[in-house]
Amino acid sequence: MLSVLSIASEAFPLVKTGGLADVAGALPLALTREGVEMRTLLPGYPAVMSKLEAAETVHAYPALMGGPAQVLAGRAGGLDLFVLDAPHLYQRPGNIYLGPDGRDWPDNSFRFAALARAGADLAKRIAADVVHAHDWQGALAPVYLHYDGGTRPGTVLTLHNMAFQGHYYGDLLSALGLPAEAMAIEGVEYFGGIGFLKGGILFADKVTTVSPTYAREILTPEFGMALDGLLRTRAADVEGIVNGIDDEIWNPETDATLAKTYSASRLDDRVANRAACQARFGLSPSPEAPLFGVVSRLTSQKGLDLLLACMPGLVARGGQLALLGAGEPSLEQGFRALAAAYPDQVGCVIGYDETLAHRIQAGVDFLVVPSRFEPCGLTQLCALRYGAAPLVARVGGLADTVIDANEAALTAGVATGLQFHPPEIGALDHAISRAFDLCRDPMVMRRLRLNGMRADVSWRTPAKRYAALYQKLRMVS
Ligand code: ADP
Repeated sequence: MLSVLSIASEAFPLVKTGGLADVAGALPLALTREGVEMRTLLPGYPAVMSKLEAAETVHAYPALMGGPAQVLAGRAGGLDLFVLDAPHLYQRPGNIYLGPDGRDWPDNSFRFAALARAGADLAKRIAADVVHAHDWQGALAPVYLHYDGGTRPGTVLTLHNMAFQGHYYGDLLSALGLPAEAMAIEGVEYFGGIGFLKGGILFADKVTTVSPTYAREILTPEFGMALDGLLRTRAADVEGIVNGIDDEIWNPETDATLAKTYSASRLDDRVANRAACQARFGLSPSPEAPLFGVVSRLTSQKGLDLLLACMPGLVARGGQLALLGAGEPSLEQGFRALAAAYPDQVGCVIGYDETLAHRIQAGVDFLVVPSRFEPCGLTQLCALRYGAAPLVARVGGLADTVIDANEAALTAGVATGLQFHPPEIGALDHAISRAFDLCRDPMVMRRLRLNGMRADVSWRTPAKRYAALYQKLRMVS
C-alpha cells in the first residue's frame, strides 16, 4: 500500500478556517478506496489535543524551535493522525493563526517551520513514499527534505490560497534550521527575506492547486500573486485537481434540515423547499419570480459588489434574492439596505449558518458566485448537487465545474448553469438577464437541474487523481 504523509495546519472536523481543512479532512478516507494510506500531521492546538484518543509518542525533540516537543500518533475526528505536541508553539487560545490583536501570532514562522521540520523527519522515520504538504504552513517540508540530502520521499505541495505566503526576515535562517546556502534565489530567498511558499514551490517535486483553470491562471501576473515567474519555471510540474464535497452531508435525498427531501427522480418535491426559502427570507410567495441565492463570505474576492450593483436591474425584472453571508461591512450594509428597500424581493441573513446554507441551496433557482478569482469554490458544487443552477464568473474552479447554457450545450443537453466573463457589472447583468430567459422555459430549467444533480461532485474522482500523482512520485523518488 502506498503510504502518504499529509502535512496540514488544519483539518475538518477538528479545526477549520478555510477550504484547506475540507481537503485535508476528506482526502484520507477517499484515498483508502484507491489503495493509499494517508496519515496526517497536525499541530497540537488545544482543539486537536483535547480530542486525541490513545496517543503514543513516536518521537521526542528535546528542543524544536525554542522548546521541547513530541510527535504523537493517535486518532481524532475520524482521522489517523500524527500530532506535533509543542505547547510553546500551539497551546494557546483563540484563532490558530491570529493573536488576540487580530494580527498573525508573532512566532508563526517558528510555529509552522516546526510543523514542516517534524513532518520531514517523520516521513523518513515511517518510510512514507510521498509527503503531501499544504499551503505555506507546510511548504518548508520539501525544503528541509532537499537540504537534508540522502534518500527522501517524493514531495507534493498543494496551493489552496496563495494570498498567504509565509514571508519572513532573512536573519531567521539559521534559527529555522536552514543552511546558509538556502539564502539564494535558487533557495528560500524571496524579496530579500525568506519565503516559505516560494521555497516549497521551488523544491516540491509536484505543485498542485485545486482546479485546472486556476493552475493555468497562477502562471500569469494577474493571478500569480508575485509567484507567477517562479511557477512558470515549474509549469511542467504544476497540475490542477478539483476538490470534491462530502456527498453524504450534501445529499438532498436524506437531508433532515430540508422542508422536504427530494432527488433527481423526485424533483417535483424540491418545490416545497423553494416556498420554504421564500418564507424564511420574507419574500413574496411567487412561484414564477426567478429566485437567486448567495451563500458566501462577503468580500471583494467573491465579487459581491458586482451583484450589489446589478440588484436594481434584478429587482426591476421581478426577480428575488436570498442572501446568506458575512464579511466586509460595506457589503453587509449594502445588502441590508436593499432588503429594507425591497422586502418582498430581497432577503438577507448576515452571519454563518450551515443549516440555512443547505436550505438556500435546496430552494433557489440560481446560486450566484461572481468571484474575481476562485481557486476551486465549493458553493457551486453544493448547488449542482441540490439542483440550483450555478450562475458563476468564468474563473478558476468555477470555469471547470459549471457548463454554460449556451446554444451548443443546450442542444447537446449537457448545460448545468450560466457563466459570464469578465467579472464585471455589465457581464454579470447580462448573465442575470439570460437567467430570466431560461426561467421562461420550465423544461430547460428542469434539464439544467437534473444535469447538475447527476454531475459527480464527490471526492471519488479527485482521490483517483491524487492517487495517480502519488504513484508517479513513488516511481521517481
Ligand atoms: P471560500 O473557501 O473562499 O470561502 P468556497 O466556496 O471554497 O469559498 O467554500 C466556502 C464554503 O463555506 C462553502 O461550502 C459555503 O457554502 C460555506 N459558506 C460560506 N459562507 C457561509 C455562510 N455565511 N454560512 C454558511 N456557509 C457558508
